[in-house]
Amino acid sequence: MKVPLLDLKPQYQSIKNEIMLSLDEVITSQSFILGPNVEKLELEIASYCGAEYAVGVNSGSDALLLSMMALNIKSGDKIITTPYTFFATVGSICRLNAEPLFADIDPVTYNIDPVKLESLIDSLSKQEKTKLKAIIPVHLYGQCADMEPILEIAKRYNIAVIEDAAQALGASCSIKNEEKKSCAMGDFGCLSFFPSKNLGCFGDGGMIVVKNEETATKLKSLRMHGMGETYFHQYVGMNGRLDALQAVVLLIKLPYLDSWAEKRTENAGLYKKLFKEQGLLEYLSPPQTGEGFKHVFNQFVIRTKDRDKLKEHLIRKEIGCAIYYPLSLHLQECFKFLGYKEGDFPESEKASNETLALPVFPELEKAQIEYVAEQIGIFYGR
Ligand SMILES: *Cc1c(COP(=O)(O)O)cnc(C)c1O
Repeated sequence: MKVPLLDLKPQYQSIKNEIMLSLDEVITSQSFILGPNVEKLELEIASYCGAEYAVGVNSGSDALLLSMMALNIKSGDKIITTPYTFFATVGSICRLNAEPLFADIDPVTYNIDPVKLESLIDSLSKQEKTKLKAIIPVHLYGQCADMEPILEIAKRYNIAVIEDAAQALGASCSIKNEEKKSCAMGDFGCLSFFPSKNLGCFGDGGMIVVKNEETATKLKSLRMHGMGETYFHQYVGMNGRLDALQAVVLLIKLPYLDSWAEKRTENAGLYKKLFKEQGLLEYLSPPQTGEGFKHVFNQFVIRTKDRDKLKEHLIRKEIGCAIYYPLSLHLQECFKFLGYKEGDFPESEKASNETLALPVFPELEKAQIEYVAEQIGIFYGR
C-alpha cells in the first residue's frame, strides 16, 4: 500500500466546482491585484482568529519580514526566537540585518522554552537589553508555544511579540483561563498559505493578523512599496501583496478548515491508539497536547533514536515521511557568522536527530494509518 506524506488532490476534487467558478469570476473581471476578495479574506481571517485586522501578503516569510519592518527593526537590533523552526523565521530577522538570539526548545512540545527565554534575557547586559526589540515564538507542527509566560515576559521587558503561526491557523491555548486562537495573542500573527499548511492556496500566500488599525494601515502601505497616495512613498516597502486569485481559493477553503483539523486530530489519535496497542509509546514519543491547548496537527511528529533506520524502512514500504528539520538553525552554514557551535542548543540539536513526521492529512484512509502503524510495529519486531 502506498501512503503519501501529503496528497492535496482529494481535497481539491471535493471543492473543485466552487473553486473553478470563483476563479473564473476573477479572471473574467481581470482584477488581479488586491480588491474585494482580498479584503473579504482579511476580514474573515481576522474574525476567525478573534482579532480586528488582517493584511494579506504574498507569503508567510514576507509576513514575518513585513511585521519586523512595521516595527522599524534595523541593523543591530536583537530578536529572540527558537533555533528549531523553518528557516524563514530566522532568515527574515537576518534580512533586516538584525541579530537573532536563540532560546532552546522544550523537548516535549518542540516550542521555545519560556524558562530558557527568560534566562537568556537575564544574561543580556543593560546595553544589549535596549537593543532587544521582539520575540518570535513559533507554534511548531500546529501547537501553540507556551504563550502565557511568553506574553508576560514580553510585557515586562516592553518588547513586541510576533507569532509565527504558519503551521498553526486554528490552534489555540488558554491565557488567564480564556481560550485564545493563534495570531490573536501577540502584536503580530503571521500566517502562511503555502499549499502544505492547514489552509493552503494554489501557490504562495500569507497574512498578518494585528490588533490595531494603525499597524494594519502601515502594513498595507509596506506591502505596496510603502506607498500612501499613488506614487508618493512614505516608507521603503516592498511588493508583498496577496493575489486576488489566491484570496478566492482561500475564501472557499476557510469554512472547511475546522473540519479538516478535526480529521487531522482524529488521525493523530488513531496513530496513538495503535502505537499503544503495540507497546510502542515509549519508543516513539508521539505528540503530547498540553492542557488547555488545541493542536491542529499540521504535522504529526514522532521521535526515536532509531529515526534514520525507521525512515529508510518506511520509505522502502512506500510510506511518505520527512524530517522537520534535520539541522538546527544555529548550525546552518549561512549563520556561521553568528558564532554558534554544536552543543549550544542541545534540545534543538537532539530533536533534529530524532524527529520524523508521518502522514496525517485529513483525507487519509483508516486502512492507510493502520498500515503505517503496522509497518512501524514490524520495524520494532512486533
Ligand atoms: C511555512 C513556514 C514559514 C514560511 O511560510 P512561506 O509561506 O513558505 O513563506 C515560516 N515559518 C514557519 C514555521 C513555517 O512552517
